[in-house]
Amino acid sequence: MREHIEYFRPTTVDEAVAALTDEAGIIAGGTDMMIDLRSGSFKGSRLVDVTGIEELRVLKEEGDTVIVGAGVKIEELRSNELVRTKLPALAQAANKFAGLQVRNQATIGGNVGHAAPCGDTHPPLILYDGVAEVAGPGGREMRPVAELFSGPNRSALKAGELLVRFILKPDTAALVDFQKIGRRKDLAISRVSLAVLADKNDKGLISRAKVVLGACMPTTRRMPRTEEFLNGQAPSLAVFREAAGLMAAEMIEVTGRRPSLAYKEPAIQGLLMRMLLPLIRRF
Ligand SMILES: Cc1cc2nc3c(=O)[nH]c(=O)nc-3n(C[C@H](O)[C@H](O)[C@H](O)COP(=O)(O)OP(=O)(O)OC[C@H]3O[C@@H](n4cnc5c(N)ncnc54)[C@H](O)[C@@H]3O)c2cc1C
Repeated sequence: MREHIEYFRPTTVDEAVAALTDEAGIIAGGTDMMIDLRSGSFKGSRLVDVTGIEELRVLKEEGDTVIVGAGVKIEELRSNELVRTKLPALAQAANKFAGLQVRNQATIGGNVGHAAPCGDTHPPLILYDGVAEVAGPGGREMRPVAELFSGPNRSALKAGELLVRFILKPDTAALVDFQKIGRRKDLAISRVSLAVLADKNDKGLISRAKVVLGACMPTTRRMPRTEEFLNGQAPSLAVFREAAGLMAAEMIEVTGRRPSLAYKEPAIQGLLMRMLLPLIRRF
């Protein structure tokens, strides 16, 4: 850990952006940043603590969207009624996130800013067409969440940029789910995570399918060929099996054939099939 680090605690976004020099890093809950500080992987000389900025803590409905401030804690996402009813996949991701101590500290902005492929909020943020408001020296702009990651643990945010809030579009689809698989049942970092949304049309065929795969590729992403295949199909085990095979093929196109594939390929296929089952049973 560096001996001397300047510490700033601004109360507005503008003050934070002004303090974010090239040498500066942002700290929110610190559950990742403290590890980076201790390991020496944070090389900067200034920390800008964003926990005093009220604007980052907003959580509200606005028209047909839900606004989630970058400083909203994971525990709030887990317990908040608006999130549970309008963004159930995000509430489920928060529910499976670490233990209470970490959830009380960790923020959604930090989860995105850290850009770890296993970030549990990434699949639901992308599932709900999440767009982030990013503040920087040139002002504020909107960017799709999927474009905020440039590789494993590499944020696409430039120096001096701050995540202010996420704008999410709730969806009333009959099936909305988030699941993850880790090395153990509880308090596990995701090795595979999956967010799924789908409906059935008046003919009983699958419609509006969205499949977002996380943790097992450099960045979380939608699986467009799998989605396209599912739409218009009558739900059945055979269809789900074919969709699962397609999703595995889409993943392998990104990752290549790694040794972990022996575990991950059947794991993601089984998970998708299980998550789609309610389309047969429930609706
Ligand atoms: C024991 C333990 C268990 C964990 N379990 C999980 C888990 O189950 N699932 C999971 O996804 N993660 C998990 N994590 C990782 C971590 O808790 C999350 O990534 C968390 O969301 C980070 O949020 P934070 O507020 O603590 O971020 P910080 O540590 O403060 O910051 C993390 C990074 O994001 C940047 N950042 C923070 N806020 C902003 C902002 N507003 N704009 C731009 N950049 C910003 C920082 O500069 C830094 O690079 C775990 C960590 C620990 C220590």
